[in-house]
Amino acid sequence: MILQNITTAKGTNINIHIRNGKIASISENLIEFPPKEEILDASGYLLLPAFFDTHAHLDKTVLGMDWFYNDLGSNRIDRIENERKNRTSFGIDTFRQASRLMELSISKGTLYMRSHVDIDTDNGLKGLEGVLQAKEKYKDIFHLELAAFPQSGLLIRPGTYELMEKALEMGADIVGGIDPAEIDRDPKGSVHAIFQLAEKYNRPIDIHLHEAEELGAFTMGLIIEHTLASGMQGKVSISHAFCLGSQKKELVVPLLEGLAHAGITIITCGQPNTTSVPRIREVSDAGINICGGNDDIRDMWSPYGSGDILERIQFIAMKNYFRKDKDLEFTMKLCTENAAKLFNIEKYGPYTGNPATFVLVKARNISESIVTYPKERMVFCNGKMIAKDWAYLG
Ligand SMILES: [Zn+2]
Repeated sequence: MILQNITTAKGTNINIHIRNGKIASISENLIEFPPKEEILDASGYLLLPAFFDTHAHLDKTVLGMDWFYNDLGSNRIDRIENERKNRTSFGIDTFRQASRLMELSISKGTLYMRSHVDIDTDNGLKGLEGVLQAKEKYKDIFHLELAAFPQSGLLIRPGTYELMEKALEMGADIVGGIDPAEIDRDPKGSVHAIFQLAEKYNRPIDIHLHEAEELGAFTMGLIIEHTLASGMQGKVSISHAFCLGSQKKELVVPLLEGLAHAGITIITCGQPNTTSVPRIREVSDAGINICGGNDDIRDMWSPYGSGDILERIQFIAMKNYFRKDKDLEFTMKLCTENAAKLFNIEKYGPYTGNPATFVLVKARNISESIVTYPKERMVFCNGKMIAKDWAYLG
C-alpha cells in the first residue's frame, strides 16, 4: 500500500510505502510502485505517531449506559464510597465497559494506554477480571498496561493488601496507590506498603497523589526517599501531583530536584476543574519525564470526556496558559514520545523499518491538530487501517 502526499510535522510532503505491516520506505519523491499496490491519497493529512493515554480508568466508564445522575458532594471520599457501593447495582460490567472505552480510544488514535483498575474489599477482583478479558480481546492492536488501584485505601480497609497481591498474581502490571495521607491516613505506612508490593512482585509503581501543598509535598518526599532506598529509579510514576502546582517556589523546587534525581515520571491530566496542576515546562526543564492522560471519561466521577487525547492535550496546554506553537508541539510529546519512554516502547513512531502504526489527522501542523482535534482521521496499526473518522473498523 502506498500513502501519498502526507504532510509531516516539519511541513514536508512525503509518501509512505507499507509492506508486510511495516514501513518499507518513506520518500519525498513519488515512489515507483508495482501496478497492483493500493494507493491512498492523503493530501491535507498530518502524520503523527499513534497516541498514548497514560492515565485512564477503563473499569469506571458508563459509556453507552443510562445517564449517571451525579448529585455527589465535592469531597473525594463521597465519590469513592458512592462508586464502590453502586457500581454493581448500576450495572457496570467491566469487560463490556472497558471494551467500549478502548474502541472509542482506538477510533481517535490512541493505541497505548495505562489504566488503573479498582481493587477493594466490596468488589474484590471482579473489575480486574473483566478488564483483563478486554485486554486479551484487543491485544493485537492495543497496548494496555494495568495498575491495581486500591482506590478506597490500601491500609485503612483490612483485606485490601491481600487483594492487591492477588491482583498482581492475576496479571496486573503495576502497583497503584492513592493519597497515603488523605485516604490511608498513614503516609509512611502506606508508601512503605506500596513499595513492599512492588519489590515482592517486581513491578513498577504509579501513585495517584491528589494531596496538595505541604501535605502533598510531604508525601512526595516520602515517595522520593523510598524510590532511592529501594533502587527503583525509573520505575515509579506519580499521577496528578497537584502539589507541584503550588505557587510556593520553596516547596516546589526541592521536589523537582528530588523527582529528577529519583527518575520519577509525572503524569498530568491538566484537569480544567482543578486549581493546581503541575506546570509541565517547569517539570520537563528539571529533567523529569512528563506524560499526559485523560483520566475519567464519562463515569461516576466526571460527566465529561470524549476519549480524544488530542482534546486532552488541548486542555493540558490551556491549563498551562500556552499559546505559542512550540509550546503546543511540546505538549503533544506528553502523549507521544515521552509516554513511549515511560512504556519502554522501542520502534515507536512512523520511521522506516518500524511497524506501520500511526495516525493521519486532517490538519496542517501539530498545533492545528490540537486546536481543532478534527474528526477526519485515519488510524493505522501494523499496516492496516483500523479506524476512520472516529469510527472503529474492527
Ligand atoms: Zn485516576
